[in-house]
Amino acid sequence: MISFYPGPSRVHNEVPKWVFKAHLQGYLSTNHRSEKFRQLVSKTQKLLRKNLKVPADYGCFFVSSATECWEIIAQSLIRESSLHIYNGAFGEKWFNYSQKIKPKATAFSFDFRQPLPLEDLQFDLSPELIALTQNETSNGTQIQAATIESLNSRYADALIALDVTSSLGGLQMPWEYGDIWFGSVQKCLGLPAGMAILICSPRALEVSGSINEHNHYNSLNNIAFHMSNHQTTHTPNVLNIYLLKKVLQKSGSIKKVHKRIEKRFTQWMKFISSLNLIKPLIAENEVQSRTVITLEGAKDDISMIMQESADQGFILGMGYGILKETTLRIANFPAMEKDEIQSLQKFWKHQGY
Ligand SMILES: *Cc1c(COP(=O)(O)O)cnc(C)c1O
Repeated sequence: MISFYPGPSRVHNEVPKWVFKAHLQGYLSTNHRSEKFRQLVSKTQKLLRKNLKVPADYGCFFVSSATECWEIIAQSLIRESSLHIYNGAFGEKWFNYSQKIKPKATAFSFDFRQPLPLEDLQFDLSPELIALTQNETSNGTQIQAATIESLNSRYADALIALDVTSSLGGLQMPWEYGDIWFGSVQKCLGLPAGMAILICSPRALEVSGSINEHNHYNSLNNIAFHMSNHQTTHTPNVLNIYLLKKVLQKSGSIKKVHKRIEKRFTQWMKFISSLNLIKPLIAENEVQSRTVITLEGAKDDISMIMQESADQGFILGMGYGILKETTLRIANFPAMEKDEIQSLQKFWKHQGY
């Protein structure tokens, strides 16, 4: 079985070996207040900064999931309301979660087939925080760095928060244009589920400090306080921190990874243009996600392709939400092997799709 599912997704081949190593080195039962744990955290943070190019003054925290990050942001970084700009199911879910915690949260939804229409936003309103899903996993769209930069400069007083769950570890992020970045590890990072990385700019931490919210175990102030000592508020997923360290060591510089993802994306698009039954859901190159490829077709063709591919051992991602029956999704994540992509494409060609 080869999984092309865009999350939880194919893990790196070395994961079983790394888990065994973690066991031999005693990490599976390491106390999270111990020096050994603190060193692991410190080393992993250093690698995040070095390999993913996270700025030295941004805080890097380990939490449980991207969903938890949605709540942390609403609890700790918003006094009254946030503005959620989205075009798909994950962005909408984030808005719904925020609204339960801060009922004045507002939303601006836009057509997923088009770039984010900056001209339709009201820049005279000044929201406290803008919530963006940089890579919308449900429909395979992305928000480009230039758009994030533009929002960052036009909403100068707002914090910019970005959900990068399905692109973190695959693409180079324009860190300087955003204040809060987060993603869970079971997608682009190719690790087993159960942890997320939350990255905050000095300005985000300043806002968190001035809001001074301490009512939850996962209040950002508590998380940042413990992390200043390379610790966590609660017993964390130590194994996943260890695995993250290993993945970062294996992958090396994000620049190189990003290039490879772009190259594979271009190759995928070229291949898809030779098919008859399916085409990219998104036509505009700049809107197309680089890491989650979404293909559209007739309902019967989509279910046939999903089924026949599964019979052959290829697990594809089904469509999400309203796109469930008319699309399928393919992960273009770093852990995918070149020969796996080739064999899926060969099979599709052979089937005459
Ligand atoms: C998968 C996903 C989530 C949810 O991740 P969890 O780890 O299950 O909380 C949130 N946002 C995006 C964009 C996703 O792809």
